[in-house]
Amino acid sequence: MLLEIEDLHVYYFTKRGVVRAVEGVSFELDRAEILGIVGESGSGKSTLGLAIMNLVPSPGKIVRGSIRLDGKDLTKMSEKELRDIRGKEIAMVFQDPMTSLDPLMRIGDQIVETILAHEDVSKEEAKRRALELLEEVGISRDRFNDYPHQLSGGMRQRVMIAMAISLNPKLIIADEPTTALDVIVQDQIMELFSKLRDEFGVAVILISHDLALELEVSDKIGVMYAGWLMELSKSEELAKKPLNPYARELLKAIPNVELEEQELVSIPGSPPDLHDPPKGCRFHPRCPDAMPICFKEEPPTKSIDGRLVKCWLYGG
Ligand code: ATP
Ligand code: SF4
Repeated sequence: MLLEIEDLHVYYFTKRGVVRAVEGVSFELDRAEILGIVGESGSGKSTLGLAIMNLVPSPGKIVRGSIRLDGKDLTKMSEKELRDIRGKEIAMVFQDPMTSLDPLMRIGDQIVETILAHEDVSKEEAKRRALELLEEVGISRDRFNDYPHQLSGGMRQRVMIAMAISLNPKLIIADEPTTALDVIVQDQIMELFSKLRDEFGVAVILISHDLALELEVSDKIGVMYAGWLMELSKSEELAKKPLNPYARELLKAIPNVELEEQELVSIPGSPPDLHDPPKGCRFHPRCPDAMPICFKEEPPTKSIDGRLVKCWLYGG
């Protein structure tokens, strides 16, 4: 197994109190697998992604749990060991490439610098690889000397992906990588992630609020709500028969192009303030299936036919 996360707890210690942003999250990810992490705003998706890189910003802290990459626990590593892992073994792609790219530097040179910073190769070799990488992500070699502002948003995101794969990482964490892009470009970037999985065996954690997009490309999907992993299932199983009521309600909110008169239902209410989440199940104020025990006690996480579900409907 490439990545094993066990009982992960990440809290932010703010002046207003403790924000329990990720609580009791466990899952595994294999090589060449795409895991979608989905949930509404504030559900802890980005915090989970940052925690895997051990990059949770202050006042955040990993307070409990383990994150093992190829058996090595990242939560127990020194800053030096972590620096070696970041970029080389795990790379991250964010929503806005403009914040990560240097506007004054040609895109090709930025890829070359990334390679030279981590690997003992000549400048010529790094340039040869940068040109190959550009081609790999669907940008023609003659754009090597372009500055970021000369590229479209989709192309800039491709450059970020080229930089992410330049050191042959085992895992890419992509946080809302296509949110700012139009639908066609979104699909093209998703195809690029599939290609990286299929041709290079890279594993991808794809963080998004867009479940429809996740279903297109992910092998499995983790549904987060208020810091909890509510369900983890293979994408086709989730689409066919979600187990957790929150996952079901999220699916109901996806426009189904095959149904002419589908009534789109968004989930009434909003996610809780994680300084003071509801007692019992954090979803109970919005859950159509809530039972008396849901108001009082946290539901356990059960494993059912290889799927994970956190909900009292599946017994105590
Ligand atoms: P979004 O889609 O809006 O980015 P998310 O699902 O990625 O949301 P997170 O950004 O991980 O969720 O936030 C989870 C919780 O942690 C939220 O309650 C948020 O307010 C809180 N949080 C995130 N970053 C910080 C921070 N730096 N300091 C304090 N609280 C934070
Ligand atoms: Fe709904 Fe109860 Fe399940 Fe929570 S535990 S999702 S409130 S049925």
